[in-house]
Amino acid sequence: MSLLLATDFAPDVLQRWADELSESLRGETVLTQRSPTHDASIEMALVANPAPGALQGLPRLGFIQSMWAGVDRLLRDDTIPSDLPLARMVDPAMSAAMAETALWAVLSLQRDHFAYAAQQRAGVWHALPQRRADDLRVAVLGLGEMGRAVAQRLVVNGYTVLGWSRREASLPGVASFTRDAALPAVLAHADIVINLLPLTARTHSLFNAQAFSQMKPGASFINLARGQHVVDVDLLGALNRNHLHHAVLDVFQSEPLPANHAFWSHPKVTVLPHAAAQTDLRSATAVAVANLQAWREGRPMAHLVDRARGY
Ligand code: NAP
Repeated sequence: MSLLLATDFAPDVLQRWADELSESLRGETVLTQRSPTHDASIEMALVANPAPGALQGLPRLGFIQSMWAGVDRLLRDDTIPSDLPLARMVDPAMSAAMAETALWAVLSLQRDHFAYAAQQRAGVWHALPQRRADDLRVAVLGLGEMGRAVAQRLVVNGYTVLGWSRREASLPGVASFTRDAALPAVLAHADIVINLLPLTARTHSLFNAQAFSQMKPGASFINLARGQHVVDVDLLGALNRNHLHHAVLDVFQSEPLPANHAFWSHPKVTVLPHAAAQTDLRSATAVAVANLQAWREGRPMAHLVDRARGY
């Protein structure tokens, strides 16, 4: 039986994944491409941005494991068999990386490091007023695998943390809010808003002119989830009229961010190249292998996607 890696990875990266999986799955064949001889033996696919149609016509395919945490793109691809179990990647190393990125961004905003970097470029020597961590309220929207790790890291670092999710979350030190009706108040109370929601029909374009106007004047926005959550012109409008202080953006409507996009050179925008939390080869391989074994043995698999819910 074999496992197919269906990705858009560069050949050297793909080979590293194949080597790591072959090491963990002794006795299994790990394929990096399809072929008429092997198609009938493929039981499981490990996918990262697979080309449309990459999983069609595989008669024994029984289980799809995403290498990414977000599966919005897979759910939009109607060539992916919709009757097979689909698991998303929940990798402790990825959650830890997300917590580090969020902490870096929050700390940089709290202690004005983006402003100091601009001052250095302009040769300006000027100390800004120092703010304490516990003077800042940070709202984490989405308290899933990523949001929980971020919220907990921020609590440990002394910030006042609010969380917003569909179901009530119980996290030490985090004030939990649920339902759409609570969102304006959460936005209005936060000095920094971090987006860690999944991209679904309900969250697409959630950060629009209305949401930005509900945010506190002088607040900052950090998007670590998906670019399609944000209406770019509305964010630029809120920054340009000085309603918002700064935006740290890791994800964009179109990636790579087009060279002529206003975000690149905007003085109030910090751009990251979708690098907030990358899948970790070693720990993600272990997660995928454990799920494959569970599927083989008929045990419950971890982190199955609820297709109706969209995440
Ligand atoms: P997750 O575990 O599925 O958690 C999603 C959270 O959002 C849950 O708390 C969920 O509420 C909440 N939520 C969903 N729809 C909602 C709604 N309509 N209203 C309020 N709350 C809602 O997702 P995750 O693994 O943490 O990933 C979060 C985001 O990060 C995704 O967009 C993913 O693509 C992105 N991501 C980005 C990177 C990067 O490098 N930039 C890396 C990994 C992940 P419930 O708890 O009630 O279900």
